[in-house]
Amino acid sequence: MEILFATHNKNKLIEVKNLLPKGITILSLEDINYSNEVIEDKKTIIENAVKKASEIYKITGRNCFADDTGLEVEELGGKPGVHSKRFAGKNADSMKNIKKLLKLMKNKSNRKARFVTVISLIIDGKIKTFQGICNGQIAKEKKGDKGFGYDSIFIPKGEKLTFAQMEMHKKNTIAHRAIAVKKLVFFLTEQFNANS
Ligand code: IMP
Repeated sequence: MEILFATHNKNKLIEVKNLLPKGITILSLEDINYSNEVIEDKKTIIENAVKKASEIYKITGRNCFADDTGLEVEELGGKPGVHSKRFAGKNADSMKNIKKLLKLMKNKSNRKARFVTVISLIIDGKIKTFQGICNGQIAKEKKGDKGFGYDSIFIPKGEKLTFAQMEMHKKNTIAHRAIAVKKLVFFLTEQFNANS
């Protein structure tokens, strides 16, 4: 089975490829020479995920899925949440986002946070969504150089290391995206078996 992953994020692509069984092949937007970005302007993570997948499905006509992820910090009332990508402003990058978050969290004792991923799948025009949540806390400082985004300041519950200090296979046993991808794979496998 071949399916398009509607992302330009190479890190996400590698993480997801590592989670898929042999029977499912992923194409990326680069593989089909599509370079435009879908604008993430919705109010919720789920709406953004559905928008990304729907736009790419409309344009390419291919069965596809997209993910949207947010980091929700309890002390900040769930922020940055749906605004995680541009938390530090329009031209923000991960460095700037992390700097802003660490500044807001300076001297805060409640450091509880969670990553939420929603994957939106479109098959033959029908939409399904899958959610993955990873609880943890915000580190006091950046640690590690693996991964991407906020990985260097997120310590998953029960762990001592940040995601950025872990090998990808370890992150993939506990992380939000991996949980959502496992649900997606289960669904695709069932569909495939029902149609074969
Ligand atoms: P989006 O899902 O690509 O819109 O990501 C929103 C924001 O969360 C971006 O700043 C990403 O870098 C960040 N992000 C997404 N997934 C992860 C992850 O697994 N770890 C750390 N940061 C992430």
